[in-house]
Amino acid sequence: MKDFELIRKDFPILEAKVNGHHLIYLDNAATSQTPNCVIDSISDYYKNLNSNIHRGVHFLSQKATEKYENTRKKFKDHLNANSTKEIIFTSGTTHSINLIANGFINSLKPGDEIIVSQLEHHSNIVPWQMLSEKTGAKMKVIPMNNLGELDIKIYEKLLSNKTKVVFVNHVSNALGTVNPIKKIIEKAHRYDAKVLIDGAQAVPHFHVDVTELDVDFYVCSAHKFCGPTGVGILYGKQRILEELPPYQGGGEMIDEVTFEKTTYADLPNKFEPGTPNIAGVIASGVALDYINDIGLDNIKKYEDKLLAYATKKLKEINGVKIYGESENKTSVISFNIGDIHPYDIGSVIDNMGVAVRTGHHCAQPIMDYFKIPGTIRISFCFYNNFEEIDILIDSLKKAVRMLS
Ligand SMILES: *Cc1c(COP(=O)(O)O)cnc(C)c1O
Repeated sequence: MKDFELIRKDFPILEAKVNGHHLIYLDNAATSQTPNCVIDSISDYYKNLNSNIHRGVHFLSQKATEKYENTRKKFKDHLNANSTKEIIFTSGTTHSINLIANGFINSLKPGDEIIVSQLEHHSNIVPWQMLSEKTGAKMKVIPMNNLGELDIKIYEKLLSNKTKVVFVNHVSNALGTVNPIKKIIEKAHRYDAKVLIDGAQAVPHFHVDVTELDVDFYVCSAHKFCGPTGVGILYGKQRILEELPPYQGGGEMIDEVTFEKTTYADLPNKFEPGTPNIAGVIASGVALDYINDIGLDNIKKYEDKLLAYATKKLKEINGVKIYGESENKTSVISFNIGDIHPYDIGSVIDNMGVAVRTGHHCAQPIMDYFKIPGTIRISFCFYNNFEEIDILIDSLKKAVRMLS
């Protein structure tokens, strides 16, 4: 087992003081913190490597291109894709989903259907809603139950030959539920529907194999697995990506341009117009190496322990209601205490240095289901520890005394 206390030393921000208290950072589902190796990679890039990729014949450009393309290979290997042509770098999960949703703009028509789940982040709802408005395709919703799990029986009934695309997250950012995506993908494929999986909350916590899943598109964001902000990784099956129209036009995504007609570059460049976030992409590869070095199996085991401990401790507080208690969960806990507004508790414990998220977590349909305005959400990363959970629990108890 890795020494997770030593790992904390890799993250300079964990030394920060907030209002005179040690920072206790429990908002990892919003963004994770950044280890020294990733910070150093960004600084090293601008000190020693800065240049534009794919263009220059000169030394720096070639070096930068090599590192950038080598990073693509790291993600291809990590996700077990077939080819580096299947890995597209974007600015994040939101950008990736918009890119794919836009790709269906010419092929969907009135009478077609697309299927979403009630557990989605707004960024896996809104781009498809926009697509639905533009094409006339109808959006259907897989409902969830009290435990925060999707109702697969109803999903089966929603599927038909009209279904063209299904888009579901692998793990809910608001509740932590791990969805049975293998089953969801397999059932959609029986009707020849394409499936996009939003893996923003999965890739940081356990191993994902796109070939084994037979998924059509899989997307995630580097800043959720200790990488920098502004980098997304989009996996798409080569055959399908080749058929999709490009999302944005510009330099680097073309083969030949005249004023009469432009022909597009091959994958993956077709979907990477302009100058990408070169430093960020390279640093994302460093973040990937970093978590692989700790080992995703070690991470999962340790985070499961944190989750079990925090869940037990929270339940000892009077009036705590946890939302989403599926057996299959990652290290996210959404809860309320009595009828105290989540924002009030969040503000009080922030004064004590404890950082949590409050609100609807970009997933209003889930809050509507539970008929609440929002929750307090704590979400762990492998650098969190049991002592921090004890301090959280004490802070919550103090907040309840102050607010009730
Ligand atoms: C964070 C998150 C997103 C959005 O990611 P960005 O990096 O902000 O684009 C989408 N879906 C889920 C499940 C998320 O957790």
